[in-house]
Amino acid sequence: MAEGSGRDADIERVIITEEQIRQKIDELAKQVSADHAGAEGGILLVCVLKGAVMFMADFARALGRYGPQLEMEFMAISSYGQGTTSSGVVRILKDLDRDITGRHVVIVEDIVDSGLTLSWLMKYLQSRSPASVEVVALFRKPDAIKVQVPTKYVGFDMPTEFVVGYGLDFAERYRELPYVGVLKPEVYARS
Ligand code: 5GP
Ligand code: MG
Ligand code: MG
Repeated sequence: MAEGSGRDADIERVIITEEQIRQKIDELAKQVSADHAGAEGGILLVCVLKGAVMFMADFARALGRYGPQLEMEFMAISSYGQGTTSSGVVRILKDLDRDITGRHVVIVEDIVDSGLTLSWLMKYLQSRSPASVEVVALFRKPDAIKVQVPTKYVGFDMPTEFVVGYGLDFAERYRELPYVGVLKPEVYARS
């Protein structure tokens, strides 16, 4: 993988492959769908942009095959800026477009690192009187956690390392990679 040109050439190591992601998303969709069987109004997916964009697209299609009624909302929040560590300061860049009162909300998150962003978002959504709020996070770094967040559905636990791909960026790049990997040290040196 790393022998390729362009974006692949900047990757030192692949941590999670495209096929592993595909399989895991199907498992998560099956579970979320089963747990929401009969949920009134179906499921309202809330995608956290930009990192969760790939996960949202694939997860929604996987869920769709299991049949629950679905609607999608998008929020954009920022906690990282251009760097690689969480600041804990969350800014809303794009809010929900509508009322979530009485709805069964599932937050679609890319990765739980310190947990600061998710903890803030849970409180924010809960204050809007939904019927329920659960979180599905594709990745989690258990050793980096600073605030415990009840994340009911987790795809993969990974080591505390900065990763890119499958929606995750470094300085807005590498989101399009279909797998998740670690960048070569020289990539940071030249930016
Ligand atoms: P937290 O608040 O849990 O520390 O992380 C908040 C957000 O930071 C995540 O939702 C994700 O968008 C971003 N993030 C956390 N870890 C990584 C990482 O290893 N790589 C990238 N590209 N983004 C990350
Ligand atoms: Mg995120
Ligand atoms: Mg980022």
